[in-house]
Amino acid sequence: MKILVTGGAGFIGSAVVRQLIGVTDHDVVNVDKLTYAGNLASLEAIQDDARYGFEQVDICDRNSLVQVFARHQPDAVMHLAAESHVDRSIKGAAAFIETNIVGTYNLLEVARSYYEGLPKARANRFRFLHVSTDEVYGDIEENGAPSDEHSVYAPSSPYSASKASADHLVRAWYRTYGFPVLLTNCSNNYGPCQFPEKLIPLVILNGLAGKSLPVYGAGNQVRDWLFVEDHARALLSVLEMGQVGETYNIGGNCEKQNLEVIHAICDLLEVQAPGKPAGLGRYRDLITHVPDRPGHDVRYAIDCSKISRELGWVPQETFRSGLLKTVSWYLSNRDWIRSIGHGLYRFPEGKSP
Ligand code: NAD
Repeated sequence: MKILVTGGAGFIGSAVVRQLIGVTDHDVVNVDKLTYAGNLASLEAIQDDARYGFEQVDICDRNSLVQVFARHQPDAVMHLAAESHVDRSIKGAAAFIETNIVGTYNLLEVARSYYEGLPKARANRFRFLHVSTDEVYGDIEENGAPSDEHSVYAPSSPYSASKASADHLVRAWYRTYGFPVLLTNCSNNYGPCQFPEKLIPLVILNGLAGKSLPVYGAGNQVRDWLFVEDHARALLSVLEMGQVGETYNIGGNCEKQNLEVIHAICDLLEVQAPGKPAGLGRYRDLITHVPDRPGHDVRYAIDCSKISRELGWVPQETFRSGLLKTVSWYLSNRDWIRSIGHGLYRFPEGKSP
């Protein structure tokens, strides 16, 4: 197959592209606008492969998308391009509405028009995989059942509301036009190449720099955690074996409170990075509680039994093994960290590490 991946220079998209080139025979065209969150350095390992191509295109730019489809003639789309950071969506929702909703609508329309012009045999095989989040299901009570694929949508933030809107559009395109979609809703990812505005890389890099480790409120928010390479494997399973029109929840069966995650990182840093900044006792001493995020969901939990039962996917990493790989990656990839130290991205406190 030739797979058109949107957002392939982002955190999860780059893991998907590396995996597609690394372990399959598929060709890939990466369509990415390169916002502050897009980084081609995450693709250095595969960028010279003959099966990989890159198009710097905004999914909101319909004319350019039409040309990309005409030029590359893809057999499938994996749609990951999005504005993805909840805090940014609270400060300003416009880019989230534009990319996540209008951009998804544009992509659906361009892909549908292209699909309708394909010869029957190719059209039968064509797939559009939309990648979404467990945040669309909203806050779950402490003892409430994890969200399954039939749970009601109840998004709380501008980010999750924009993703929920996109999910509804994708389902409508299946029901109304018979467009062959697949949907996934995944829990929190962590791993190499994640921008340090998100919890795990922020704690690792701030810890190494001897800066404070900000914790929202009491730090008792519960999230399910999945190593990014496991997510990429799940997406490939859904693309190759998923039933058209179906949704698959993806998760790590690994619920943890934020404070627990931060403690685990600090303890790993004690072993992996014992040479601390001057005057610092333990990494845990850097933990600083800050006022909670407005509308902050206390718990997300995901029931991912369907994808295991139907497609045989299970995560390969435990939280311990995945976190160790993540901390080791940030310790040994200072060039990647430097590559995002300029441009539009700003580190907390306005400084690069
Ligand atoms: P990211 O912010 O790291 O990367 C997003 C990528 O999309 C970047 O490369 C960016 O340049 C690109 N992009 C943004 N706007 C674009 C536009 N208008 N046109 C083209 N490209 C554009 O995000 P991520 O964490 O890799 O998430 C990828 C997808 O997975 C998103 O749809 C997100 O909602 C979903 N998701 C993320 C998580 C998570 O824990 N990070 C969990 C579940 C689902």
